[in-house]
Amino acid sequence: MLPVIALVGRPNVGKSTLFNRLTGRRDALVANHAGLTRDRKYGEAEIDGHKLLVVDTGGISGGEAGIDAVMAQQSMQAIEEADIVLFLVDSHAGLTPADAMIADQLRIRSKPTYLVANKVDGVNPDIALAPFYELGIGDVFPTTATQGRGVRTLMRRVLEDL
Ligand code: GDP
Ligand code: MG
Repeated sequence: MLPVIALVGRPNVGKSTLFNRLTGRRDALVANHAGLTRDRKYGEAEIDGHKLLVVDTGGISGGEAGIDAVMAQQSMQAIEEADIVLFLVDSHAGLTPADAMIADQLRIRSKPTYLVANKVDGVNPDIALAPFYELGIGDVFPTTATQGRGVRTLMRRVLEDL
């Protein structure tokens, strides 16, 4: 059984972009519209010769109803199934209440979690990343999923801790 890595975070932070980057899948799951990926998607990633199973999720935004509630439920299920969680936030958008809610959920479940500040392109990392430390998760890993920047550093750290 491969280690299972779940990508969680509110819609539009770049989970599917990172999923495609990690799994090398070209059949685009990436949505230009927030929250289009409703289902969990599984793909294999290989980092330095180590295989991982990566799970993409639709996202959690807090206070869900209807289809959003189903999406949130699936994200929670993905968290339960995972060995490790990559919790994505958006450096352009900054820290949001939904991010804080997700952080609480992860704390309750005490899953090993890596906080990924995606979309660091076009922001000053020293300023943009600071608020994310308030989530109390620890290190903040800056990435630009669209270009792959920071992804190797992040995944090497994940592998070290497995
Ligand atoms: P998801 O809803 O969390 O799966 O987010 P997506 O992967 O669908 O990405 C949402 C939008 O953010 C898309 O338009 C992506 O191209 C864009 N995006 C993802 N990663 C980055 C990034 O690192 N930098 C920038 N500028 N945009 C990104
Ligand atoms: Mg998506």
